[in-house]
Amino acid sequence: MTIKNLDWQNLGFGYIKTDYRYIAYWKDGKWSKGELTQDNVLHISEASSSLHYGQQCFEGLKAYRCKDGSINLFRPEQNAERLQKSCQRLLMPEVPTEMFIDACKQLVKANQDWLAPYGTGATLYLRPFVIGVGDNLGLSPATEYIFSIFCSPVGAYFKGGMKPTNFIVSEYDRAAPHGTGAAKVGGNYAASLYPGKLAKQRNFSDCIYLDPTTHTKIEEVGAANFFGITKDNKFVTPLSPSILPSITKYSLLYLAKKRLGLEAIEGDIYINELDQFKEAGACGTAAVITPIGGIQYGDNFHVFYSETEVGEITQKLYNELTGIQFGDIEAPEGWIVKVE
Ligand SMILES: *Cc1c(COP(=O)(O)O)cnc(C)c1O
Repeated sequence: MTIKNLDWQNLGFGYIKTDYRYIAYWKDGKWSKGELTQDNVLHISEASSSLHYGQQCFEGLKAYRCKDGSINLFRPEQNAERLQKSCQRLLMPEVPTEMFIDACKQLVKANQDWLAPYGTGATLYLRPFVIGVGDNLGLSPATEYIFSIFCSPVGAYFKGGMKPTNFIVSEYDRAAPHGTGAAKVGGNYAASLYPGKLAKQRNFSDCIYLDPTTHTKIEEVGAANFFGITKDNKFVTPLSPSILPSITKYSLLYLAKKRLGLEAIEGDIYINELDQFKEAGACGTAAVITPIGGIQYGDNFHVFYSETEVGEITQKLYNELTGIQFGDIEAPEGWIVKVE
């Protein structure tokens, strides 16, 4: 093994072509035996349902290099189960959990030279996806599918430490009240590009989406979940059927309670009741924990802990979560899967 000589400290979150990707085909009602390939270009029918009707879903998880050189995956069975739910919602064949985890392991092993050395903060991001393919003009589920995973080295999300960033509440919705908000399906993200662009034009990192029914409660922070720490030290995160159930969020709920001794709850977070929070953050596999400096809502700009400094509890949660992921802190039972 020879780890690549990339500028690990300055890697962003972008596509870098690695040596191998995993691919399996669904045909005649079953998955082919998946294999690794060096070809990073898909050759699919122009009439594929994924291209026209958005019949596709995806996942995101990371591989982490530990101090002893070994490699960790973080709760990959949770990604497998969420992918199964997304597939159910779009009438696509499910990828069994065992097949999913085996594919992740094969892929990481084959590309391990692309996984950063311990201590750089960089990781290998895995992007599993399922797409409807084949000749299929009318609006109906495809009869053929591809399940593939590629990976790309990604940098520490925070250059020079954890820096708070600001967000703006959008007038647009990312999901409908009984739509596909809880599924990781491409259509949700295509719809979020425009509101995201408006936010960035005004120098915000991204937008905050409110609940699509009443527009009074926080749902998502761009493509990450929201959490706040109340002045009396409760960890609070929104509960709604239209947010994407973040694995990072559920992990933080657990860690806040079991490791930090905080009360940890899922519930309504009203946008006009932000004063109750002393800290706030966005969480997800890509974002890890991004402290939120302030939120613009109409003419009002609400600052949490500070626009420049990270709050104490947010920092503790970050240390606990990343410590577990990189193997420095003992993980709760079953959270770490070794790539061997
Ligand atoms: C993927 C995603 C998240 C984060 O989920 P994790 O499982 O923590 O990576 C949050 N919100 C949206 C909209 C997402 O797509």
